[in-house]
Parts: sequence; structure tokens; C-alpha cells
Amino acid sequence: MPKYIDIHSHVNFKTFKEDGDIVLKRALQNDTWVINVGSQFSTSKRAVEIANKYQEGIFAIVGLHPIHLEESFHDEEETGGEGFKTRAEEFNKDAYRELLKNSKVVAIGECGLDYFHCSSEMAEKQKEVFIEQIKLANEVKKPLMVHVRNNYEDKSRNAYIDILEILKKYAKVKGVIHFFEGSLENAKDFISFGFMISFSGAITYPARKKGRNCDYEEIIKNISLNMILADTDSPYMAPVPYRGKRNEPVYVKEIVRKIAEIKNLPETEVREAIVVNAKRIFGI
Ligand SMILES: [Zn+2]
Repeated sequence: MPKYIDIHSHVNFKTFKEDGDIVLKRALQNDTWVINVGSQFSTSKRAVEIANKYQEGIFAIVGLHPIHLEESFHDEEETGGEGFKTRAEEFNKDAYRELLKNSKVVAIGECGLDYFHCSSEMAEKQKEVFIEQIKLANEVKKPLMVHVRNNYEDKSRNAYIDILEILKKYAKVKGVIHFFEGSLENAKDFISFGFMISFSGAITYPARKKGRNCDYEEIIKNISLNMILADTDSPYMAPVPYRGKRNEPVYVKEIVRKIAEIKNLPETEVREAIVVNAKRIFGI
């Protein structure tokens, strides 16, 4: 049994091209298992290839991130080079189904809704492709790795509410809301529906941006430990004291430590519970 499981990482992204194996070995040496998550077909395939190289402790999740549905700008960390526009990707169910045959693939995602920069037309497209991925998850009986992001200026729509509605209508499997930054009410609603809530390095940051509607202390204090997970979302959002640096899976312990501090529980108890939760939802 590992000490930690970073349930959402992107060591499959280009920023780790040179030293990804060193980063993963460092995680394993520190008793940290890693689940690398795809954002489109190419990075999903790479996550599977990486998992295949390891006998134990490295897994993959495959799927299509909502921001890859339109031609969009991606930073150098994800795709390499100076940062450039990637073409829009159509969701090819058969291609993803092939990847899902691999036993190292533990879920589908990251999929969901991203309203951060998003026209209403694109929001409809995101919903369609999210539903397609839910149906695939139902078919292969694997959980969902869900990405949710709101536009904090535009309150006319709420991605958390829309996602919950879609899940209730279509999902026969459970899953995880990763990098949670919704409200306590949102968190409770997802938990009632059987979805776990995963927290990122953002919980270690001292000041929260106004209007984000996310009071991590209140949320973490008021939800059950057996529905909580931790994810780094490496290479992004490194927790304190690594903030501003390239994030990596081994830093997940800082997030776990913060959850324990907020819950006012012994770190070991929280750490062990989070590992048990991750094993339960992903069947690993
Ligand atoms: Zn991610």
C-alpha cells in the first residue's frame, strides 16, 4: 500500500519529456502512486504508454478535455514548443475504446465543462462530448475524472450545476470532481450522488480571489473524509512551498497535510483514508 496516490497528474505532458521517468521514479521512491490523465487523444495514448513501462504504481486515464474541442491556445508545458494553437479534436469513441482495453487505464477523462473562455455554442458542444464520454464510461464500467471550471465574471451559467444535472441524467458510474473549486453546497450535492471531491494545491494558497465562491476551509471541514481525494494537476498549481515551480506528483503530500490541518486530524489518519478512497473509486 502506498502512502499517497496523486489521482490527477500530467507527467504525460511535454514539459516532462526529458525527465518524466525521473519524476515518476522519485514519486515511487516516496511511496506515491501516480495517475496520469490525458487531455486529448495524443496525451491519453502517452499516459497509457507511460503506465505500461511500470510494473506497479503508475496508471492512466484517457479522455478529451473540453478545451480541446475548439482550436485553442496551449502552453508550452502541455504541448511543447513556444506554445501554439492546437486544432479542434472530435471525440473518436472507437479510438478511446481501444485505449480503455489496457488494464492500466482506470477511468475516463478528463472530461467535463470549462466555461472559462467559452461561447454558449461551445458550451453546448462541450455538453455533447461530455455525454459521449459518460456513455463510454457506462459501457466499460469505469469511473469518470471530471473537470469543472466556471467563468467567474459570467454568473449566468454554472458549470457545477450543469455537470451535476448531466451526471444525474446519464451516468451509471461514479467518479471524481478533480481540482474542486465550487461551493460547499455543490460539494455536498456531488457527494450525495456518489462522486468524490478532489482538492489541489490551491488549498495551500493563503489568499483566495474574491468572487470565486470557494471557501476551502469551510468545504473540507464539512464533508466526510471518506469522500476526499488529493490531486496535484502537475505541472500546474504547485502547492506551497513549491508555488510557482513546476508541480510534480511527490508534492501531493503538501495537499494531504493541508487537508489534515483543516480537518484537525492526525496526518497519518488522513493520508491513509485518502489512499483507501483512491483505491476504492479506481479499483486499484
Ligand atoms: Zn488536469
